[in-house]
Amino acid sequence: MKSKVVLLGPPGCGKGTQAEKLGDELGYVKLSTGDMLREAVRNGTELGMKAKTYMDSGALVPNDLIIGLMKEKIAGLDRIILDGFPRTIEQADALAEQIDIDVAVNIDVDDAELVKRLTQRRSCPDCNAVYHLANKPPAKEGVCDKCGGKLYQRDDDKEETVRNRLEVYRKNTFPLIDYYEKRGKLVTVPGVGSIDEIYAKVRKALE
Ligand code: AMP
Repeated sequence: MKSKVVLLGPPGCGKGTQAEKLGDELGYVKLSTGDMLREAVRNGTELGMKAKTYMDSGALVPNDLIIGLMKEKIAGLDRIILDGFPRTIEQADALAEQIDIDVAVNIDVDDAELVKRLTQRRSCPDCNAVYHLANKPPAKEGVCDKCGGKLYQRDDDKEETVRNRLEVYRKNTFPLIDYYEKRGKLVTVPGVGSIDEIYAKVRKALE
């Protein structure tokens, strides 16, 4: 089983859901920059205050803030899934200086589907679990199955911001597909079908 894994793909492709499953079922430590930043915003830390305006508009938080944070979190961990990092070539280079990635799994989904998924997404602020009103509703409306937290819609999952996030993805993050392909690390998985069907393919890419 590969131990250092990057999940690539546009916002809404299912990275967070798949990372959560890999953590629960295979014991990977999931490191999600989005979750870390949202927590920092909730706690009103210095990082949170700096990151908030970027996040609200769907822009990327500056590389220097993210790279320092991730360096600390990754240090010493053996089996990790990186969800939402790297998002720029500069971040990928910084990561490569620190550890050797075994595989980058790119989850491929078309734009119309992404908009639908993001605008219907609901998230748990307490344990970061993600739901979808149609594809993966919680057992009790508005309540997290895992921890009982009150589900909410992220501000950046509203339609105007979603479109901006897709643009930002295309410009800054899409080039990472080529980056990892050139290094012989890329596996692309079609992100269509049920969560379990996609999971089976992601899992296979880790063998
Ligand atoms: P996510 O939960 O991965 O969709 O991330 C939510 C927001 O956090 C993004 O729209 C960015 O503003 C910010 N963010 C998360 N990860 C990164 C990263 N690796 N580099 C820069 N900004 C990030």
